[in-house]
Amino acid sequence: MTPANFDFHCHSVVSDGLLPPQDVARRAAANGVDLWALTDHDDLGGLAVARQAAEEAGMAFENGVEISIEWQGVPIHIVGLGFDAAHPVLSDSLNELRIGRIERAKRMGEAMAAIGIPGVYEGALCFATNPSLISRAHFARYMVSIGIARDVPGVFQHYLTPGKPGYVDHRWATLADAIGWITTAGGVAVVAHPGRYKMSGGDMRRFLDDFKDLGGQGLEVTCGSHSPDNVMHFARLARHYAFHASRGSDFHGPEESYVDLGKLPQLPEDLKPVWRLIR
Ligand code: AMP
Ligand code: MN
Ligand code: MN
Ligand code: MN
Repeated sequence: MTPANFDFHCHSVVSDGLLPPQDVARRAAANGVDLWALTDHDDLGGLAVARQAAEEAGMAFENGVEISIEWQGVPIHIVGLGFDAAHPVLSDSLNELRIGRIERAKRMGEAMAAIGIPGVYEGALCFATNPSLISRAHFARYMVSIGIARDVPGVFQHYLTPGKPGYVDHRWATLADAIGWITTAGGVAVVAHPGRYKMSGGDMRRFLDDFKDLGGQGLEVTCGSHSPDNVMHFARLARHYAFHASRGSDFHGPEESYVDLGKLPQLPEDLKPVWRLIR
């Protein structure tokens, strides 16, 4: 099958999305997606339900995950696709990563208490359907609910980004870890939303050199947070590195995403789509 509309990046309530996996599946299918991957942050818990719902909706499905890493101090996300979800190396390692998230979340709560806003860790937990996967998005939603800011981007801007009072440094996985876990489990590693990282052009090239050397094969070229200029720029880099190109909305929920499932431009035609590596 040659998919007309593949979407390989989105979230459910298993991480910081707003819909259960089966509802994300139905929405993707209703939007015309014909090849889909669920890519929750650091957790594989939604994949079985997502696959079943995708099959019921007549949509092809691939396993996915979005792994939180840090490269030379920069937080970066690596999407894994088409792996064996039962492989213990991947699932055990993600377990460890989630334990680190809980510890980070507690420190975020302490940092907010220090500026006179107590109880945000406990409050954020109430917004996390999966208590083992707590994200800054849950903090932001809770903080909007108690009137600290008008909307989620406002909370990020004033409290949850580097230099702001609720932001704490954290040791994520390394680039080598994430690529190693994904490829050991039989999957393909893809750089998520490269246009979002605060990096110079030289650092981006050094990062992509490392990514390729370590076995990474894909680059998100078309995605929810990329401008048309970003798409052209990362298409050029995909050609330069001979990476396969991915396309993903990064949909989190109807109220919180700029781009809905499957509703984004096609990849530039000359690029090799990443699904060719896993189907
Ligand atoms: P975390 O993985 O816990 O650091 O949280 C990162 C998540 O927060 C991302 O996956 C997005 O869902 C969300 N996020 C990050 N930055 C922003 C922002 N500026 N505005 C809204 N949501 C954001
Ligand atoms: Mn997210
Ligand atoms: Mn991301
Ligand atoms: Mn994402």
